[in-house]
Amino acid sequence: MSTTIASSSAEFDRRARRRLPGGVNSNVRLAAPRIYFERGAGARLYDVDGKDYVDHLLGQGPNILGHAPEPVQSYVSSAVRRGMVYAAEHEEELIAAEQVCDILDWPDMVRFGVSGTESVQAAFRLARAFTGRRRIVRFEGHYHGWLDNTLAAFPAEGGCIPASAGQVGDYLEDTVITPWNDLDAVRQRLAADDDIAAIVTEPVMLNAGAIEPCAGYLEGLRGLADEFGVVLIFDEVITGFRVALGGAAQRYGVTPDLAVYGKAVAAGWPVSLLAGRADLMERFGTGEVNHSGTFNASVMAAAAVRSATATLRDTDPYDHIEKHGQQLMEVIRDASNRHRLGLHVQGLGMAFHTSFGPEAPITDYRGVARTDGAKYGRLARFLIEHGVWVAERGVWYVSAAHGDQDLHDAESRIDAAFRAFARSEV
Ligand code: PMP
Repeated sequence: MSTTIASSSAEFDRRARRRLPGGVNSNVRLAAPRIYFERGAGARLYDVDGKDYVDHLLGQGPNILGHAPEPVQSYVSSAVRRGMVYAAEHEEELIAAEQVCDILDWPDMVRFGVSGTESVQAAFRLARAFTGRRRIVRFEGHYHGWLDNTLAAFPAEGGCIPASAGQVGDYLEDTVITPWNDLDAVRQRLAADDDIAAIVTEPVMLNAGAIEPCAGYLEGLRGLADEFGVVLIFDEVITGFRVALGGAAQRYGVTPDLAVYGKAVAAGWPVSLLAGRADLMERFGTGEVNHSGTFNASVMAAAAVRSATATLRDTDPYDHIEKHGQQLMEVIRDASNRHRLGLHVQGLGMAFHTSFGPEAPITDYRGVARTDGAKYGRLARFLIEHGVWVAERGVWYVSAAHGDQDLHDAESRIDAAFRAFARSEV
């Protein structure tokens, strides 16, 4: 007996477009082919048309343990039998908070939230209250959420502009944009403006390309933040619990004042965390700085963080994920050479990026902006068509659940997709 309301993705999509704007619930999904998935298991997704995909998008990052990971799935399912939202404290949230501080090693305290977007806002408010200053230095190509004061497009002449109709552009006036991986540019901004509260950065640039910080860059930001009395915020929504158990702070050995976690921290459940030093975080504790939320540290959220982070700590999948990703990068390079695509592949095994152009490593957003995104979008469609679920914007993720069979299947599917794409482009 069929348990679904339609029998093909196309049929679902026709219905969906009547009741869901664009047929989706996040604008990020508008560009992707409209495929309806029935379920995810491990490294695979299965659609309603009976086809399977090796998943290298992983829910845009959260599924670090693959889909429906045991034991997290069982732990959260059993915890929520005790109810979900108490508007009061419970043991699960305390254990999760202690465990996260222990694992990350540098923060004194955490505050639960529901989305990365929202916890970034809490970090900004805290930094402003702490410094008594207003403006935020941030970087071309970085993403910190969809709200009016963060959503931005980066025109060639510099600065940033609203990226959405209906967005109040004035809210970006407190944003100071500089190129990333360029310490002198940050120093100049800080020296010229005594009203800067914080520097916020993705510690590995993963929302445009996959660009590692240059040697000494994060240390340099740390030094500048100290020199100018500015709060250093790492937006670890993608990098946290992915590029290392302790995220980029651990991988690159640089400690921020505040950091935002999301995605992998709960292995798929909707949770974010703001972590930081006690002298900052206590501003919430005294009530001086407000951050509230009906769903903050729900039983589900706390149980998911507790179980996901314990699983990541105890199973230590990072070498496996990195190795699998490196092998996959080689598979893509080989297939690209075979079919003369000239695809550029760069990044870490656990999160890398593929693009048309340039040959040399990309070190900043301008380099990413020069790649041929439309052509890559066409290639992504061929990959999806051949059973590799990937992002149109070129980022690839790998999970602990990816194994030899997944690599093997990805290899033959990538080869077939690249061959078909090469034919279609002539
Ligand atoms: N910061 C970064 C670095 C992100 O990548 C994202 C989401 N992709 C966000 C913030 C916003 O997180 P959310 O989608 O959970 O609101």
